[in-house]
Amino acid sequence: MSETGVCTEQIGCPDCGAIQALPPIRSGRLRCFRCRAVLERATGRPAGAALAFSTATLLFLIPANLLMLLGVYRDGVSLSVGLDAGVATIWHQGWAVTAITVALFAILFPFLRFGLLCAALAPVVLGRPQRWCGQAFRYAEALDVWSMPDVFLVGVAIGYSRLAVLTKVDIGAGGWCYVAAAILAMLTRATIERRRVWRSIANPPAAAGPDSLACSSCELLLTPEHEGRRCPRCAAPIRRRRPLAMQYALALTIAGLLFYPVANLYPMSELDWFAGKSAHWLFTAVIKLLQANLYVLGASVFITSITIPFVKLAGILYLCLSVRRRSRRHLVFKTRFYRAIDELGRWSTMDVFTIVVYLPLLQFGSLASAKVGIGMPALLAVVVLTMLASRAFDPRLLWDAAESAPA
Ligand SMILES: [Zn+2]
Ligand SMILES: [Zn+2]
Repeated sequence: MSETGVCTEQIGCPDCGAIQALPPIRSGRLRCFRCRAVLERATGRPAGAALAFSTATLLFLIPANLLMLLGVYRDGVSLSVGLDAGVATIWHQGWAVTAITVALFAILFPFLRFGLLCAALAPVVLGRPQRWCGQAFRYAEALDVWSMPDVFLVGVAIGYSRLAVLTKVDIGAGGWCYVAAAILAMLTRATIERRRVWRSIANPPAAAGPDSLACSSCELLLTPEHEGRRCPRCAAPIRRRRPLAMQYALALTIAGLLFYPVANLYPMSELDWFAGKSAHWLFTAVIKLLQANLYVLGASVFITSITIPFVKLAGILYLCLSVRRRSRRHLVFKTRFYRAIDELGRWSTMDVFTIVVYLPLLQFGSLASAKVGIGMPALLAVVVLTMLASRAFDPRLLWDAAESAPA
């Protein structure tokens, strides 16, 4: 314990593996001395803020999933839908895996993440952390990238702007609750001090030494005898490096490369509307948004749906090649590039979510119908495969490979 009353901590950097002691801070960021990764981010806000925001998110998610999201009216016919209708429409059109994936990202994972976060944070804030808090917090953190209320909200905004051109659209009570839940989810992300939470759950003395190894989930330093066992703080399996990291990352990236052209060459959705038949590709969606003077949304779709998946695929191949060649060049850049593509990849699901909202609102019997194009499940496959690939890759291998390179 330091003079300021804040516990110091020794950890292994999750991005480069360097062992270091973190001095106590009240606010600001602490970066790794070697790879510049952010190791601790302190907001200076009370510990209860993140708990309050995550509880409010959980509460708003309930009506957001039960009430009307959007409604459309055309020639005396009205149609209103909730979140489940988009999933059901995709399912009934024969895309079961796509429907299940969308339901996991937009419905189940947000509930699980914020439920686990509330369960883990409440005893910590009350000053009575329990043994199971570490495991609950680890699962909540792992679900962070897979739970996408914020991405879904932007997807809905794009779907809304596209529909508004065609017909009158109303935002329902469920839609407003989803806006509140997504904003609160972002506030939870901004206020949570993960290092402080880990220290509050348990702060056992670190086993710092030349052979010590770090837990890949909570970064606790452990003696070599812990390899193959469970972390005493978060119960994650302890391994020096992610097993078969390169093989999994390469296999998943190659699978993603096969789907990428399909996502771009085939339509995302096909519409049989009052004005005739039409289809929309990723590129035409960008052009239509730009023509409607929605420059920010157009640029967002271009960057998230076309550019980021390509940069991720090329980036993971480049990182794997770099490890294989035992390159010692640009290690800090490569480590930060890995962190960026790992965190940004989830935004590529935005256009998929747009279609989830768009589809059920255009089912007016014989008057209008819309269906999923092959491009949509292909884009979702690229996103999931690249997210799994970046999760499988271990950036510490870049530093290991550079150290083992002949001088
Ligand atoms: Zn580092
Ligand atoms: Zn751990």
